[in-house]
Amino acid sequence: MLRSGGSSAGVRAVLAGALLLAGLAVASCSAGPDDGGGGGSGKDDPNGKVTVVYQANAIQPADRHAVAVVRKSRVLEQVAGWVNTSLALPHDLVVNVTERVPPGVTDAVTQPDGRTIFIPPSFLTRIAEVSGTVAKTVKRPALFPADEFHADDLTALSTQFIFGHEMGHALQRQFPLANLGLEEDAADGFASFYTVNEVGPGPSLATALLFDELARQEGRLTLEGLSSDHPVTQQRVFNFLCYLEGSDPKRFSGPLVGPGYLPKTRAPLCPQAWAMLNYGWWTQLKPHFSEPFQARGDKEQQRAHDQLIAETKALAKKLDQLRSEQ
Ligand SMILES: [Zn+2]
Repeated sequence: MLRSGGSSAGVRAVLAGALLLAGLAVASCSAGPDDGGGGGSGKDDPNGKVTVVYQANAIQPADRHAVAVVRKSRVLEQVAGWVNTSLALPHDLVVNVTERVPPGVTDAVTQPDGRTIFIPPSFLTRIAEVSGTVAKTVKRPALFPADEFHADDLTALSTQFIFGHEMGHALQRQFPLANLGLEEDAADGFASFYTVNEVGPGPSLATALLFDELARQEGRLTLEGLSSDHPVTQQRVFNFLCYLEGSDPKRFSGPLVGPGYLPKTRAPLCPQAWAMLNYGWWTQLKPHFSEPFQARGDKEQQRAHDQLIAETKALAKKLDQLRSEQ
């Protein structure tokens, strides 16, 4: 097996120019009691729709700025729109931006039936605070546009990726999808799949910076962190960057691997890893394409299949050399 280990100290030093906080991803974000609030009639309906609801009367003054930033950016609506156009959900899905959440909920969560996502306004404020620290203390990666490297845009882009993660849970639960790994990994995978294909590099980059800062603030790894159903925070940073780089190495390898954001030990695996993820999600979603999307979706799935075969062959060719360099 190829090892993708190696010290991340160099990378952290680069990202670290100044990143610190704690705890965005505490308990399972897909578990917990479902106290209702879900949309739909409860009957199977292949025309289930996603709606985003900002509950203006359930947002504290302290959280209004972060909520306004996200609302104005329409990043939640973009994800919802893609799902509504491309997929035939069996049930409605309501995305509630509200402080009226089930007991103990502090982060974005998807209820176990995949029909309700809660996004607490205080969670968006926390993303905005950490994004503000990133904007102030981290040297802007060259790939990230200068005019977007400020707290508000970083907040919107990260929120889109994190919402993509929740949407991944919702899709897994609603259809339901067969899962060959941990659900949290698959949810992260959907966030990469959706944003890399439909939005561009911004959400992955902003979220990598956000999580790097969070990892710094979490400090030393604890038993709780290691045993979480989520991958370790710092590991998620590299997963986000790996999928992005692998999606278009000609474009992303220079700015991501060169300066050390993505270690040279991991990067050679990323094109095949991305191809596998991309093929995996297109294939999982294929039976659930909406009728108008079917022709395009089938083409995307076939293209992803061909890319996976090509990338796996390419990896096989360079494997001996890569192993001998480890
Ligand atoms: Zn999750």
